[in-house]
Amino acid sequence: MIDPYGRVVSGLRVSLTQRCNLNCTYCHHEGEGASGIEMTTDEVLRIVSVARSLGVRRVKYTGGEPLLRRDIKEIIKGTTSMDLEDVAITTNGSLLKQHAQNLVDAGLHRLNISLPSIRPEVYRSLTGGSLDDAMEGVMEAKGLGMEIKVNVVMMKGVNEGEIDPLLEFAKSLHGGLQLIELEDLNLEASFFEKYHLDLSDIEEQLAKRTGHVIEREDMNRRRRYAINGLPVEVVRPINNPQFCMRCSRLRVTSDGKLKPCLMRSDNLIDLLGPMRKGNSDGALKGLFLKALNLRSPYYLQPS
Ligand code: SAM
Repeated sequence: MIDPYGRVVSGLRVSLTQRCNLNCTYCHHEGEGASGIEMTTDEVLRIVSVARSLGVRRVKYTGGEPLLRRDIKEIIKGTTSMDLEDVAITTNGSLLKQHAQNLVDAGLHRLNISLPSIRPEVYRSLTGGSLDDAMEGVMEAKGLGMEIKVNVVMMKGVNEGEIDPLLEFAKSLHGGLQLIELEDLNLEASFFEKYHLDLSDIEEQLAKRTGHVIEREDMNRRRRYAINGLPVEVVRPINNPQFCMRCSRLRVTSDGKLKPCLMRSDNLIDLLGPMRKGNSDGALKGLFLKALNLRSPYYLQPS
């Protein structure tokens, strides 16, 4: 699938639910409003299978908290059996202690853990949850041999001083670290203004600490810094036309709509309705191509 801007779509990011057991102050809810409708296991797998037939090679499940889905094992099992290059989940980790073994049994090898702080009181104030629960989950997954990337949304005056401990923690997991710019989506303007942190200084400091910078081919050609052997990525989407030009993913909302851009909700294409009305895979492919044609970079390169 190639969109009107020449961008190849090779990834699908599927939200499985809007339900969550945490309440992160900064959450963008993947740019979704709450509809209360969720796809069934078969509907999720059918959408992924149609996407695969159109060239999608990477699938990531998100939410809400994807581990709240009772059928998460079946969803992962069905997806890992589709011969994709990469299947992953992003999770807050707090339910991993119960689920990690099931996920591994279902063929999952890779997780992103959202961990906005490794200070218990800061973690609680940001998420409403317990850092111990998240840590126990991470350790369980690690003990089962899963590859773990730690995702940190950076917030001014909150966690910007935690980079070194986070580097150490991610290194202890033999994982990776992703420092993410706070995005202005489903947030109060005053909240965003107060906490938004420009990550250019952090990126500069990281660049100084390493002679080893890799540009990832697969993910927006993001720069990856090797700090003491730990891969670290800095995700800076805001006002970044290059980030948009390298976007290679389509999204599916938890209520089964194709979402061409995280930042927009005015160009969704419903898949679930047509699926429930009995539309064929061919018709669903047509809806994918319709969404593909609606993809346009949110931050456009000045001409
Ligand atoms: N509950 C799961 C989790 O915690 O990973 C999945 C949902 S969460 C919305 C998915 C990802 O979005 C996480 O990596 C989280 O850090 C990131 N995220 C949430 N709000 C964000 C924001 N305002 N700006 C940037 N990233 C955000």
